[in-house]
Amino acid sequence: LKPPSEWRRLLLKVSGEALMGDSAFGISQPTLQRISSEIVAVVNSGREVGLVIGGGNFLRGANLALTAVDRVAGDQMGMLATVMNAVAVAAQLRALGTEAVVLSAIDVPVICDRFTHRGAIQHMAEGRVVLFAAGTGHPFFTTDTAAVLRAVEMECDVLLKGTQVDGVYTADPNRDPTATRYDRVGHQEALSKNLGVMDAAAIALARDNGLPIVVFSIQDTGALPKVVRGEGTSTIVAD
Ligand code: UDP
Repeated sequence: LKPPSEWRRLLLKVSGEALMGDSAFGISQPTLQRISSEIVAVVNSGREVGLVIGGGNFLRGANLALTAVDRVAGDQMGMLATVMNAVAVAAQLRALGTEAVVLSAIDVPVICDRFTHRGAIQHMAEGRVVLFAAGTGHPFFTTDTAAVLRAVEMECDVLLKGTQVDGVYTADPNRDPTATRYDRVGHQEALSKNLGVMDAAAIALARDNGLPIVVFSIQDTGALPKVVRGEGTSTIVAD
């Protein structure tokens, strides 16, 4: 992993839940504004930024599995939820004066352009934040896998995964008081110990392509710009 001062192009993954703030569902305006302004700070530090946002604040396909909605339909709904989040964050970034564009893995032509590699590279080179929406465009995948995929495709120096906790722990710190945080852990170790960094498909893809992941808490105000400055608490997942 290069030192943070040498990160030129970053991929940030934010879960849909992070946008809920204190609400039980959807998007909290103050949280949307806070996270967006932290992204603006990173852009203003001279980095190219790509963003993958989840959709869990609206729905997760697998949670619908016991209803009449089958997994494929549920996942399609989940992908549409990520488009809604991407549209919201892009609008907020623009309101803060930063250019942003939504590129979707599924065609939603009235709302945004379709993701293409060359289009995304061009937007990023021209200084726009690119929001990669609709995950991978396929059911049975997650936005974590989409984040690793886009980070590898776009040759990002690092994937920054903003979660609810400030790194990767030996056990769930909310349930086990003896859990300790790793400063650094290998992809393979995270995978074989089932540390819950990301789903297995995502970690395996990161491992196979040598993509370093930095896990930090997006809940802590200012944590994102800190991580980019090489400060604050986080876990580095890298071999
Ligand atoms: N999803 C999908 N394919 C993808 C990415 C996402 O089908 O490539 C669907 C899936 O139903 C998932 C939902 O979109 O549950 C929301 O994504 P995710 O659960 O990754 O969001 P997060 O947990 O990060 O908020």
